Amino acid sequence: MADLPLIEADPEIAQCIAEEQKRQHDKLRLIPSENYASRAVMEACGSVLNNKYSEGYAGKRYYEGQQNIDTVEKLAIERLKRLFGVDHANVQPYSGSPANLAVYFAFCKPGDTIMGMGLPSGGHLTHGWKVSISGKYFNAIQYGVRRDDHLIDFDQVASLAREHKPKVLFCGATAYPRLIDFAKFAEIAREVGAILVADIAHISGLVAGGAHPSPVGHAEVISSTTHKTFRGPRGGMILCNEEHRSAIDRAVFPGLQGGPHNGTTAGIAIAAKLAMTDEFKAYAHAIVDNSRVLADALLSRGFDLVTGGSDNHLILIDLTNKDVPGKVAAQALDRAGMVANYNSVPFDPRKPFDPSGLRLGTPAITSRGMGPEEMRRLGNWMADVVEDVENEQLISRIAGEVKELCDQFPAPGISSR
Ligand SMILES: *Cc1c(COP(=O)(O)O)cnc(C)c1O
Repeated sequence: MADLPLIEADPEIAQCIAEEQKRQHDKLRLIPSENYASRAVMEACGSVLNNKYSEGYAGKRYYEGQQNIDTVEKLAIERLKRLFGVDHANVQPYSGSPANLAVYFAFCKPGDTIMGMGLPSGGHLTHGWKVSISGKYFNAIQYGVRRDDHLIDFDQVASLAREHKPKVLFCGATAYPRLIDFAKFAEIAREVGAILVADIAHISGLVAGGAHPSPVGHAEVISSTTHKTFRGPRGGMILCNEEHRSAIDRAVFPGLQGGPHNGTTAGIAIAAKLAMTDEFKAYAHAIVDNSRVLADALLSRGFDLVTGGSDNHLILIDLTNKDVPGKVAAQALDRAGMVANYNSVPFDPRKPFDPSGLRLGTPAITSRGMGPEEMRRLGNWMADVVEDVENEQLISRIAGEVKELCDQFPAPGISSR
């Protein structure tokens, strides 16, 4: 049993994986938090490293047999330090949410005041939203964006910070199409004695590739996923200066987690190595260029974009003027081979489960090598579908055109069949 290939051991699951591979090939994947991990990363994640326990850190483990694991983890750490220019990296968080929980655990006690951007403005659940542990176990103060231009309201950030004196101030977002001004956040954090945490989950690949300003030198602690624009395995990381090193390490292990996922650690090491190449720098810039071109194409078709455009990898559309709810649009687009997600827009009058917006981004389609010409086609296809969501004939014609385009741009790590 234990030595059977997947197709024999479990044909049902094998089929699901084959279908998912086909879906990831045949459709334009526009969910901004998703990507195609590099082939080498995928290999590492499915390797024998999965079999090893290694609680602790290199040289201080609670299990024997770490000859190879220590090397893997040290390589991941050294490469991230070099790539981002930081004193220390912890590569053990299981994902972005546990990384943030470890940051809270490192600096806060239950009931302490924390501050982050509210979910309705584009912040992440783990930045203090009320249903999350970060909102339940801490006194979470939430800032947002301005009503007129939907940009981060720094006057509000400053006044709330002065009033509530948070222990940690989170910046970074999950649905914000503009650059984050880390220097401005740092000034506010310094004034009130808060530790500034930059959560760059979405943009760590852009930061690594020089396509978004770096929080290094502004934020004392930086948390991130490793599977979004960074194009690594599903995982998390925390970067910090020497001062916070032991607090962070102790919070991750033994504070929050047991054994690290060593295949993931190897994947992070590989992703960090690849992110140092000129090719990756070009990739990061192409993500942003594509996002701008796509935003312009959508604007020219009468779409209302939150903040009026994009200067990162992400676009947020307010569909109110098109008279189509986000969910209906997202479902029609999926049938046409374009996968985005429905999303609330700032000050959304509709409910989170049936919101007014669509969130999309260019990391995955840029990984396939698509450029400005494909972005303009995509913008037109999206408009055609959203303006006629019940026209199944149109939708299936476009699905066919999308598939043809996808066949010309194979995705990394995925063969066409
Ligand atoms: C995606 C994301 C996370 C959480 O990552 P998971 O890996 O899904 O736990 C945290 N913060 C931000 C800003 C994110 O966008």
